[in-house]
Amino acid sequence: MVAVPQKKHFIVIGAGIVGLSVGVNLLKDGHAVTVIDRLGPGEGTSKGNGGLLAIGHAVPVGTPDVLRRVPSMLLDPTSPLAVRWNYLPQIAPWLLRFARASMPDQVERIAQALSAILKPAVDAFQPLLKAASAQDLIQARGLLYVYETEDGFRRAQGGFEMRRRLGIRVDYLEDGAVRQLAPGLGVPVRTGVYMPDVQHCIDPYRLTRMLGQAFQQAGGTILQGEVRDFSMGPEGPVGVIAQEASHPCDAVVLAGGAWSRPLLKRLGHDAPLDTERGYHVMLANEIDLRLPVSAGEGYFSAVPMAEGIRLAGTVEFGGLNLPPNPARWDTMTVRARRLFPGLKDSVRSTWMGFRPSMPDSLPVIGRSASMPRAYFAFGHGHLGLTLGPITGRLVADIAAGRTPPIDIAPYAIERFSGARPNARAM
Ligand SMILES: Cc1cc2nc3c(=O)[nH]c(=O)nc-3n(C[C@H](O)[C@H](O)[C@H](O)COP(=O)(O)OP(=O)(O)OC[C@H]3O[C@@H](n4cnc5c(N)ncnc54)[C@H](O)[C@@H]3O)c2cc1C
Repeated sequence: MVAVPQKKHFIVIGAGIVGLSVGVNLLKDGHAVTVIDRLGPGEGTSKGNGGLLAIGHAVPVGTPDVLRRVPSMLLDPTSPLAVRWNYLPQIAPWLLRFARASMPDQVERIAQALSAILKPAVDAFQPLLKAASAQDLIQARGLLYVYETEDGFRRAQGGFEMRRRLGIRVDYLEDGAVRQLAPGLGVPVRTGVYMPDVQHCIDPYRLTRMLGQAFQQAGGTILQGEVRDFSMGPEGPVGVIAQEASHPCDAVVLAGGAWSRPLLKRLGHDAPLDTERGYHVMLANEIDLRLPVSAGEGYFSAVPMAEGIRLAGTVEFGGLNLPPNPARWDTMTVRARRLFPGLKDSVRSTWMGFRPSMPDSLPVIGRSASMPRAYFAFGHGHLGLTLGPITGRLVADIAAGRTPPIDIAPYAIERFSGARPNARAM
């Protein structure tokens, strides 16, 4: 006799790309699903990201080279990596773990785990795009990195070679070929690096909201409210407390992005989640930008979107409460105008968002080993848009008792407690 999986009522906390992808996948298995968000679909970090389905980004953020350069970058206020000094005491333990994860043996291990989850990421998008009728929001044009200096390219080359070893297509281009792909460039390019398989979303906010609508049309419920606590039973949460009301459930999926840690602690768990704040600037669509272009030395991308050209990127350690630093928008705009002199019009809008970042660049996905009613889907850092749909699929597989398409051990929360056999504490 085939075992019939038990249908449950799941409450998913967070209506970002991750939470909604989880919701849609759980509904497909016949579960009842309620998503609770204090704001609404797509109002968190999923609103303003760079839109890249960055399936080639299998190299972790922390590498020996990045680590060597962190101190000088942190001292330069215009650098793409910055710290708000009053946040340094809070971020210091995260940075120490980041340093440990940047050692060569760790980088190799993390790259394998990133590559494994990135491979099925684009395919996992397809059913969700179809459900949301949002296929038109995705374009398959690749991603071009431009390095203006020999030094900049040499520093990045190891990462590109690692990607090649992992089976990711990477083409090195000379100035002429670069200019054919990006005719608006106004600077001499030492080396271009083209990753043909990267796709991009021309409106990540719209995509997330459309996914929210598809989720509701398929029978899911979205509630607005701030989740503050849980009612707990012997196997974990049996209810979610939001806006003074208790919402009973069979299981909870924590997908609260960068804000997940306090709730994680209420569930009796912990993980070193912090935020790498990132910035975006919207400019008019004044140049012939045919594909996303990343400034190799500048750590930001110029992405052609539905409403104009989005400059997105850089990293700032400053926690969840400090206001944005407007100088970072200015610096990114000045750098983009140097790269693309045709970008003359005034800035249309600016935004800052909170990447939910783990120090080892791997998301936390899975079910608690000690609390079968608690599931985790947060910590996607620079790759949450890319990995949202595959995360939804993995959570649904775990909930249904199906064997997931990849080994999920590297993403387990227990990697931080050392409680899991064979897992190394980071
Ligand atoms: C500048 C920038 C550029 C980026 N570019 C890319 C890119 O090109 N490609 C890519 O793949 N990724 C990119 N990212 C990363 C990506 O945007 C994030 O990883 C992703 O949006 C995280 O999605 P999420 O659903 O986990 O979080 P969010 O979208 O932040 O959603 C979490 C939701 O949880 C809700 N919430 C939290 N706590 C509670 C609570 N207690 N009660 C109720 N609701 C709660 C919040 O309101 C929020 O709506 C970028 C990020 C930034 C900042």
